[in-house]
Formats: sequence, C-alpha cells, structure tokens
Amino acid sequence: MAYESDTVVDDARIEASQDEDARLDATARTLNTQLYGASPEAILRAALTACSGRIALVSSFGAESAVLLHMTAAIDPATPVLFLDTGQLFGQTLDYRKTLAKRLGLSAVRDLRPAYADLATRDPKADLWRSDAETCCQIRKVAPLNLALGEFDAWITGRKRFQSVSRAHLPIVEAAQGKLKFNPLAAWGRAELDAYAAAHDLPAHPLTAFGYPSVGCWPCTKPVESGDDLRSGRWAGSEKTECGIHTSQSGGAGQDVGGGI
Ligand code: SF4
Repeated sequence: MAYESDTVVDDARIEASQDEDARLDATARTLNTQLYGASPEAILRAALTACSGRIALVSSFGAESAVLLHMTAAIDPATPVLFLDTGQLFGQTLDYRKTLAKRLGLSAVRDLRPAYADLATRDPKADLWRSDAETCCQIRKVAPLNLALGEFDAWITGRKRFQSVSRAHLPIVEAAQGKLKFNPLAAWGRAELDAYAAAHDLPAHPLTAFGYPSVGCWPCTKPVESGDDLRSGRWAGSEKTECGIHTSQSGGAGQDVGGGI
C-alpha cells in the first residue's frame, strides 16, 4: 500500500506543478499584453517593481550589454546582476565587466563560475568545447545559472528580436522553467541601441571594434562579415546556435525562442 500512496503523492505533485506552470504562463501572457508597445525603461521598471527583491538581471557584459545595464542602474543600482564567468571568456570581457559595473555604479554584480567538480571530472583540459559543446555549455553556463536563479522568481535578459532568426518572435515577457523572464529590449533595433549608447556616452565592448557584434567565449566566437546575422560568429561552422540557458520547458508563452545572453 505504501507504493500506492507514494504514487498518489507523486500524481498530486505533478498536478500541482502543472497548475503552477499554467498559472505562470497566464501571468506572462497578461503582462506581455499589458506591456506591448511600452518603452524598455517602462518594461524594466514594471519588472523590478512587480518582482521586487525576487528578480535578477542576467548579463554577459557583451557587445550590446551596456544599454540594459545602464537602464537598470538608473532605476536601482542594487539590482542583482548575474554574470557567467565561464572560464573561457575573452580577457577584454572580464576587463569590461569590471570597468562598466564600476562606472554605472552597479553594486550587486555576481560572478557565476562552473563547479570545480564538474570541470575536474568532465573538462579537466578545458577543451570540451572541441568535442561536446552542448555539455561544455551545460557545465559552464546552464548549471551555474540555474543554481544562482534558485533564489529568484524572475529574471531579465538583454535579448532582442533583430539579433537572429531564432529570436524574431521573442515576447516581452515569457514563462519558462518556473520563472518569469522579461526581455525589455525585445523590440529595439540597432538604431535605438546606438542612439541610447551615444546619448549616455556608454563605452563599447572593446571587441566590437574588431568585427565582433556578439561576444561569448573565445573558443566559440568569431568576427562576422558585414551584413551577416549578428550571432553568426557564435559556434560558427556548427549546428549550434544557442547555449541552452533559455531553453523553455513550459511551452505556451515560454516557448523556446532561442537564447544565449
Ligand atoms: S560557448 Fe563554447 S567554451 Fe563557452 S561554455 Fe559553450 S561550448 Fe564551452
């Protein structure tokens, strides 16, 4: 009989989890409708207000990160900012993370690093990216981020629809993996980003001057030709286009729209 009661408990848990996913999905759809056409600053303010104390910004401190970081600092410089230091980043990105955070006055940037045990057992020579990029991203990005996000109910990303075909239908608010995700810059294009950066005199990532419109880990990022998809330099020459941190498990408003901060 113990087995039967365990099964009943398991069934109840699954049902509760499905109810929660459906509730979150409905919330995301409502917010998405309410915030349609709102400015990135208004979306960001709404997110930080609605989820106060339970929301973090996830930033790569990459080629287009300064705009959203600046907007966030203007609203609340103590907002938690999660930065994935994969151990394979360009030195220029690590320098940029320090100087930009200091300049903007962001006081709660957290450097997320892969678990030592994962590196020691699965990537001891730091060359897993050559043979199994999916697992490399899993241990260097997905696992550390999921661990850090455990204390939050919602997060903010800097993804935009114009960046790639896989992001063309990115919603402003999604529900994914039990959390709300806000994409305040979803509707912005190159012109708006450049104008905002110029108006606020934001420093560019040093590698943008060398043909990198999107900057990730050094082994998996190449410069791109003018006119090419902005993310075409990421995992160039392979089928992989996303690192996996945005893969949704909930469907609906949270359908996988691609990712990679
Ligand atoms: S982007 Fe490349 S080096 Fe970085 S975690 Fe993924 S596979 Fe590894």
